[in-house]
Parts: sequence; structure tokens; C-alpha cells
Amino acid sequence: MSATSDDCIFCTIVAGEIPADVIGRSEHAIAFKDLNPQAPFHALVVPLDHHENVAASAAADPAVIGHLVALADTVARESGNPDYRLVANTGAAVGQSVFHTHFHVLGGSSRMSESL
Ligand code: 5GP
Ligand code: ZN
Repeated sequence: MSATSDDCIFCTIVAGEIPADVIGRSEHAIAFKDLNPQAPFHALVVPLDHHENVAASAAADPAVIGHLVALADTVARESGNPDYRLVANTGAAVGQSVFHTHFHVLGGSSRMSESL
């Protein structure tokens, strides 16, 4: 049984209750396209279990971070982006807006984005 948060948009996507452009899945995580892409390839990898950020997920189960990185690598390569960046905003002051752990997977961009 996964922990969920009733008012969390990513829990809603994980549950299949609102649509998302899903590009990959594993036993522990899901990957889907970002609604507001900041790079030519911009996906999010999200654990099925709800925690508010990567540190909280790592504290609950360190293996989760490995699962997220593995899925990020798979979807990046499958989309033709073997070179990519992973970004995990932690805290509202640096731009975190969804408080369910996620990595941004950014490909096809030659310089650092100002917005992530
Ligand atoms: P954060 O700002 O928390 O690091 O990143 C949250 C990301 O989630 C943003 O890039 C935003 O565009 C994306 N996002 C927010 N709501 C939705 C949604 O309902 N569907 C999808 N696909 N992406 C979303
Ligand atoms: Zn959630």
C-alpha cells in the first residue's frame, strides 16, 4: 500500500485519476512529460510513494533514489537523449512547486536553464 496525500497532484497522476503523457514505468516509479517543458526534452520521474522531497524519500528508503535515477536514464535514452541533467528542487525558495518527490530530466539543452 502506497502512502498518498489527498491533495497532491502527482499522487493523482500516479493513481491514474488525471491524465499525463506517461513515457515510462517501473515497479517503484513513473515517468511522464512535464506540462510546461523547460528544455527540448523535459520529463519528470516520480516515486509511487508520497514524500515531500528527495531527502524525505531517501530517509524513508534510500533505494528509491536509485530507482528514480534508473528510470530517468531509461526514458532519456529511449527518447534519444543519452546526455541529460537531473534536477531535484528542494523547498519553495528554490522553485519547488509540487511537494511530491521528483527529478526533472532535461535533455537537448546546451546550457543551464535559468528557471530550474
Ligand atoms: P517543481 O517546480 O516542483 O520542481 O516542479 C514541478 C513540475 O511539475 C513543474 O515543472 C510543472 O510544470 C510540472 N507539473 C505541475 N503540474 C503538472 C501536471 O498536472 N502534469 C504534468 N505533466 N506536469 C505538471
Ligand atoms: Zn503525492
